[in-house]
Amino acid sequence: MSVPLTSSTRVLALLGDPVAHSLSPVVQNAAFQAAEVDGVYVALRCDQRDLPGLIQAISRAGGGGNVTLPHKERAAAVLDAPSEAVRRTGACNTFWGEGGRVHGDNTDVEGFKRATSRFLERPPEGFRVLLLGAGGAARASLVGLLDLGVREVMILNRTTERARAVARRIGGERVRVADTIGHIEGERFDLVVNTTRLGLEEEDPLPLELGRLGRAGAVMDLVYGPEGTPFVRAAAALGIPATDGGEMLVQQGAVSFECWWKGPAPLESMREALEGVRVG
Ligand code: NAP
Repeated sequence: MSVPLTSSTRVLALLGDPVAHSLSPVVQNAAFQAAEVDGVYVALRCDQRDLPGLIQAISRAGGGGNVTLPHKERAAAVLDAPSEAVRRTGACNTFWGEGGRVHGDNTDVEGFKRATSRFLERPPEGFRVLLLGAGGAARASLVGLLDLGVREVMILNRTTERARAVARRIGGERVRVADTIGHIEGERFDLVVNTTRLGLEEEDPLPLELGRLGRAGAVMDLVYGPEGTPFVRAAAALGIPATDGGEMLVQQGAVSFECWWKGPAPLESMREALEGVRVG
């Protein structure tokens, strides 16, 4: 049964640029209906200058929402009450108003941990991991990987200095940075995680030629799309188990739902909604 929209319906908004690719509205509105909560989830493409005002105004009006690329780091600075995950990553993907303050979490951390362990059928304890990218999603994934007990994470990013900054902030002895793909050519990794935005656009190149590694045991692409992603298809063609960011979308969305509604998220309804818009 769906709850009718009324003057008391709570508005949850996805803020980012672009937002047109996002399947969060499909997943969250299905969750709201299944859980019979009085809310509606919309996507607003917004400029970085408008981000602080939007977060504050929506929160003060009793709403909340998500933040997506490229605004997650900027959003972290707007919060009155950041969670531990926001403090560790310096990035925020979930916000809401509570007690007159703007609260925020980074549910990508928990979403990544749950999705990775589900994909691998166990936590990646002892794994050697190649992490592609150094943006907001990379920070969340790095915190998640370290929490899950990996042995080593090598970060490779187009802008090396950004990778070094992430390693400095979150790193420790288990985190290293590769200046170029040439530096890790032929090396063996148990897991490769793509957190770059490559794959969002049709014409994007692959984030990495997997054949340049000595071994890639499994591939997790945080990018997702109705038809999967080119990186996942390239991995599958080499016989490497691979998954896109669909399950992480559901899992991080479930944790966001719990922040907003203080109750359990209807995970199966969220998965069904996502599968409903996938092709094949
Ligand atoms: P971001 O903070 O803007 O970071 C973008 C990353 O992509 C940076 O590492 C950037 O490298 C790299 N990049 C951009 N253009 C590139 C290019 N032409 N060549 C090589 N690298 C390039 O974005 P984000 O928030 O981390 O999000 C990244 C991706 O993860 C997005 O596609 C997002 O949808 C996805 N994501 C999915 C989930 C999920 O639930 N499945 C959750 C979070 C994020 P530079 O540092 O060199 O610019």
